[in-house]
This record gives sequence, C-alpha cells and structure tokens, in this order.
Amino acid sequence: MMTGVGIHVTTTMKRAFNFNAGPAALPLEVLKAAAEQMTDYEGAGMSIMEMSHRSKHYERLNDETQQLFRSLLSIPEGYKVLFLQGGASTQFAMIPMNLLPADKTAGYVVTGSWAIKAFKEAQLFGATFEAASSKPTAYDRVPDLSSIALPSNAAYLHVTSNETIEGVQMQTFPNTGNTPLIADMSSDILSRPVDVSKFGMIYAGAQKNLGPSGVTVVIAKDELVDASPKTLATMLRYDTHSANNSLYNTPPSFSVYMMNLVLRWIRDGGGLSEMERRNKEKTDLLYRVIDESDGFYTGHADPAYRSRMNVTFRLKDEALEKAFIKESEAAGFVGLKGHRSVGGCRASTYNAVPYETCAALAEFMTDFQKKH
Ligand code: PMP
Repeated sequence: MMTGVGIHVTTTMKRAFNFNAGPAALPLEVLKAAAEQMTDYEGAGMSIMEMSHRSKHYERLNDETQQLFRSLLSIPEGYKVLFLQGGASTQFAMIPMNLLPADKTAGYVVTGSWAIKAFKEAQLFGATFEAASSKPTAYDRVPDLSSIALPSNAAYLHVTSNETIEGVQMQTFPNTGNTPLIADMSSDILSRPVDVSKFGMIYAGAQKNLGPSGVTVVIAKDELVDASPKTLATMLRYDTHSANNSLYNTPPSFSVYMMNLVLRWIRDGGGLSEMERRNKEKTDLLYRVIDESDGFYTGHADPAYRSRMNVTFRLKDEALEKAFIKESEAAGFVGLKGHRSVGGCRASTYNAVPYETCAALAEFMTDFQKKH
C-alpha cells in the first residue's frame, strides 16, 4: 500500500531476528503502543512530538519516567534522575568538566573500547590515572578491582559496567569508600538489579536497553549534580538540568516518551530480576553453542566475565566469518557483524531481544558448523 508521502507500507508484518548493538531492538508491545498513540496522545488530539514540553501532558510524562527509574532501580533518597542529550559520549566530557577540580585526579578502570574513550576524553580536562587495565589480556576480562588503591585526592573512579564491543561485563563493582564511583551503564542498564547506593553516578545512552537514541539518562547523588563550576557553559552543567527538572531547554520528547513505554514494559514484565533471568537464559543458549563447538567458535571474553548483553565470538578465519555473516543475513539475522574496530561476530541480546530470536541463532550456529 502506498501512503501519501511516497512510502510503501507492507500489510503483512515481518520482524527481523535483530541483534543490532545500538540502536537496537525495541519490544514489539512498545512499538505497537507508540503506533496506537501516534496521532492522538491521551486525548490531546496530537502526538507527543507535536506538543509543548511545557504542557501538562509532557510534564506528567517527564515526572512519571523519572519515577519509573526510581522504582525499577530502587533509587534511594538523595539522587536525581536527569534526561540529557548528546549521548553517553557527551558524559565522557561533562563528568570531568563538572566533577574534576584542578587539585584532584580522576581514576579510570580500562576494560575496553568505551572505557578507553572515556579515559581519553577526561585527559582533556584534568589530571587522571589508570586505576586498572585489562589491556595485557586484550580486554577479555575485568581486571582485578580489589587491589585498586585510590589516592586521597581522587575526585572519582570511573568504570564501564559492560564493554559493548568486547562483550565483557563487570560482575562486581569496586568498593571506593567515600570517593564517588561513576559507571557508564550504556549497554547494560536495567538488564539486572544493581545497588544504586554504591554509586555516585550512573549514566547511559538510551539506544540499547532504554529506547531510541536521543536521550541520555544520568542518575546521580544530589551533591554531584547540584554544584557545577560557575564558569562552565550552561548546557554542560549538571546543575542547570538538575535545577530545571531536565526541562531547561527543549528535551528530546519523543525519545523520553519511548523510554517511558520501555520502562513500563520492564515493570509489567517482572522488573530487573526477571530481566536478568531472561538475559542469562538467552545468552546461555549462545555460549553453550560456542563452548560445545570444539573450537569452531571461540568466545572473546574469559567465561567469568562474559557479557549477558553482547556475545562476542570469532570463527577460524576471516573467510569463514564472512561466510557466517552472509549466510546469517540470508537466513534473516541482522547485526551479527562485530564492531569494525575488532572484527569477529557479535550478538547483542538486550532486554527487548526475545528468547526465540536467540534460540533461532543458536540453531543457525549449530547448523552452520555442521555445514562447514
Ligand atoms: N559507552 C558505551 C558502553 C557504549 O556502548 C556506547 C555506545 N555504543 C557509548 C558509551 C557511546 O554512546 P553514545 O553513542 O550515546 O554517545
């Protein structure tokens, strides 16, 4: 069927086996709900995209979405939930700009590609140090966190809870005492319960586990977001957004709306413990195929640090990997090519990726091995 804007719409719905790393699969129920509300949001006679961010509708949505984070993550008193723009990459800069004064130093745990980016960015703004690194083992694990010694003038310690590219996930977090622990949870937020009280700040771009791209969530202790240096640009100060309930300027309203639906979907689907159970069940299917393949597939991550969000693996050589990607695409699988910086294969299995999609991939992998 042709629409009035020259777009062809199919009448029979097809959903791909979507393993994209981000932007990534969204729950079908969420997409359907958004489609339902697309032309008339709660009787307003317009979509959420078409209304003022100062309207009652949007204010309610903004507040409710913060509340959903608070209840899903059991966020204690004394924390703010902010919705910002610029992606997690902007946080790489905002964190040192706001929280690293001239007389202090910031520690970074270097677990892979995203930690490296965060660490490099911080070096533009102040003194930093490498607290631990898994470079010697090609970022296949989380380095020993128990031996990290923080200097007395440490401003914060930064960790990356899940390395999206390498497929390595932190199973425990370092104890930093009074030094704020800051975590980039872009690729595993809301995939499992975490004790927020251990963190000074948690941040995440939305486009993996939370919704579409365009909004970045910052969950942080009041004292970290309420006192930015007075010389900083207005939009890059946490206190601007904190004092204005994330409505200082026009927010990414559609992204926040979609995130609201995703959070409801998580809540109604049993919350974070249930997400964790499902993610473990899904990734177990894939890791089992890898482990039982007699070396046909080799996992990148050391088994103790395997990610429940990004399953990374290689085949014997690049030619076979190419064949794997090509045949997988022909069979309806999308997004299995590893990140361009490391190669290999990667299946991203975020909350919204159904069990059946992972089971289909496990079967495809087994068949591919038999065939080759
Ligand atoms: N951190 C991690 C762990 C990521 O996976 C990504 C995106 N893939 C980023 C940061 C960067 O996020 P953004 O594209 O939102 O800037």
